[in-house]
Amino acid sequence: MLGQPDKNMKHQCPVCHKTINGTNQERADQAKFFPFCSQRCKLMDLGAWLDGKYKIISESQLQKQESSELRGTSSDVTSGNH
Ligand SMILES: [Zn+2]
Repeated sequence: MLGQPDKNMKHQCPVCHKTINGTNQERADQAKFFPFCSQRCKLMDLGAWLDGKYKIISESQLQKQESSELRGTSSDVTSGNH
């Protein structure tokens, strides 16, 4: 068995860029918020993401969606009842 403890397993929080390096227990606790260092940063990123998402939605709502009209070729249905 190769029990190699990954040393210097550093990770940076994408929100506050805080270097995350702790004991295994601390890592396990931080794993809940991975890849963020804390719940605060996780919520911040989630909020930013939602904010951007809503902006995109509002912008798309402003633009009229040009629905491609399905041109149904009027086929002459001549009922040759004769
Ligand atoms: Zn953070």
